[in-house]
Amino acid sequence: MPNTNTTSGIQSLKQLNKYFLRYKWKLMWGVLFVAISNLFAIFPAQLIRQAFDIVKETITSYGLVGNSIFKEDMLVNVTSTLLIFAGLVIFTAIAKGFFMYLMRQTIIVMSRQVEFDLKNDVFEHYQKLSLAFYKRNQTGDLMNRISEDVSQVRMYIGPAIMYTINLLVLFVLVISTMINVNPQLTLYVLLPLPFLAVGIYIVSSVINKRSEAVQKQLSVLSSSTQESFSGIRVIKAFNREADQEAAFRAECEEFKNKSLHLVKVDAIFQPLMILLIGLSTIITVFVGGKLAIEGVVSVGNIAEFVIYVNMLTWPVASLGWVTSLVQRAAASQKRINEFLQQPSEIINHTLDPSEIKGNIRFDNVSFTYTDSGITALKNVSFSVESGKSLAIVGRTGSGKSTLANLICRLYESTTGTIYIDEKPINDLNLNELREAMGYVPQENFLFSDSIAQNIAFGEKVDLDEALLKQAAKDAAVFDNIMDFPDAFDTVVGERGITLSGGQKQRITIARALIRKPNILLLDDCLSAVDTETEEKIVTNLKRIMQGKTSLIISHRISSIKHCDAIIVLEEGRIIESGSHESLIADQGFYAELHQKQLLEEEHPAL
Ligand code: ADP
Ligand code: MG
Repeated sequence: MPNTNTTSGIQSLKQLNKYFLRYKWKLMWGVLFVAISNLFAIFPAQLIRQAFDIVKETITSYGLVGNSIFKEDMLVNVTSTLLIFAGLVIFTAIAKGFFMYLMRQTIIVMSRQVEFDLKNDVFEHYQKLSLAFYKRNQTGDLMNRISEDVSQVRMYIGPAIMYTINLLVLFVLVISTMINVNPQLTLYVLLPLPFLAVGIYIVSSVINKRSEAVQKQLSVLSSSTQESFSGIRVIKAFNREADQEAAFRAECEEFKNKSLHLVKVDAIFQPLMILLIGLSTIITVFVGGKLAIEGVVSVGNIAEFVIYVNMLTWPVASLGWVTSLVQRAAASQKRINEFLQQPSEIINHTLDPSEIKGNIRFDNVSFTYTDSGITALKNVSFSVESGKSLAIVGRTGSGKSTLANLICRLYESTTGTIYIDEKPINDLNLNELREAMGYVPQENFLFSDSIAQNIAFGEKVDLDEALLKQAAKDAAVFDNIMDFPDAFDTVVGERGITLSGGQKQRITIARALIRKPNILLLDDCLSAVDTETEEKIVTNLKRIMQGKTSLIISHRISSIKHCDAIIVLEEGRIIESGSHESLIADQGFYAELHQKQLLEEEHPAL
């Protein structure tokens, strides 16, 4: 909601002061260059006044001299003088241009640097924020604040500041010169300028409001279009192309109307400016003419004033524009600050090195998702020793993935404590904890990159081909990869080929295995893999994870029956635990699940 709270909005721009401080020298040079370029803008006006006056004197004396030989000399003299003046005017114009170039090179360059820094700062902060933050906020919104809003802020740092400095310098220089010549004429000439500023301000506010509406509609249009491209398969299969087309047409219509609405005010802008400049010029010529007849000012002064008026008009007009730029930037900065001031919920309390062996103990852990109020884990206690494997089974929604998230410290337990090697998880160096971990999330995600890069993703060392191949073999995906035309260089994800669910799962397993983790955490990542391949992977895991801790979450008994211990979750509680054999003997939930899955295997049609 921009512009609702302007004062606190403007306050939010204070956040930027540290960047100004960082680039203070650039800014100072910029101010100096603005001043110099304005000086060179004022000289020509004075040169032109002198030229005018010389011409006028010459005309007067030409008449007086009569038919003498001086006439010829006079003409030659005046021509060469005027030529010198013309040369000087051209020189000052070039000098002015040069310093304007330097002014842009400093101030606009500074604004780009601040934009760069700000973007990086925002991104760095984003990376620190917890998973819960990402659940709360939409990706589109995050993207907008780092791109669109930062650009708006740049307009304040660059153009807005530059034009303001320019206006101030110009005002001091021009108006003091004008008052020096004639205060009365100055007053008349400047009369329309305040109206100009206010008029432009009103018009540009309206333009802002309407262009905001256009922008908003544009994002509605693009997100709905994007959705229909993503869902094209469903749209085609359900024969809903015509509906989509009608919806698109309606959004486009809205966009067109809003754009036309904007163009209408936009069209007033230019004429309004020209009208007011014209008005000032007329007043100058009229009042100036009268004063010249009275002999108070010279004809040259009128010419000089006309130039001043033209010089002042743009900056004054830009005042309205600058005001709206600042307002927009303030609104944007406020939005950026909202996220920047959001503290990270997961904090690394120590940078001490802490070697992680992989003993895990849950002590009466409960967890409630704050946004949904769902208590996903209730008084969960269990432990796994380093080198052992633990399986977690349970129906969907029983809290298995939540448990995995807590071990990675993507969330923190609401009550109770998780101990790793008998230290509370919050006291461990978070980086080391995650470094020691091989986590395969339930929702597998591959980056738009080659398969090799995706597997080596968690590895800091240079891509070692042998390791890469071994990881792929261990995850039983090597043969699949070799079948692709570019093998490990095959690009996957949005810009590449689409992998099957099972292939994706196995690549994410390879990504976890290549790190040689001390704790391996597999969250239901064999669900899309056939039983034969599953068997292979489980055998490989046993070999690789010898002496290390593995936690395997699954709803398939076949994947986990070899684990050292098994716990069964139901609605966030541990309802059974023990080895495969003891659980079967108990005849409880686990035994029932086992029976069901055995039947399914024998009669897949059931
Ligand atoms: P499982 O992995 O066993 O299927 P989850 O741990 O994913 O179960 O979910 C346990 C419960 O927590 C479910 O009721 C689910 O709706 C809820 N839940 C999971 N993730 C979130 C979340 N990010 N925000 C709010 N509720 C969640
Ligand atoms: Mg899950």
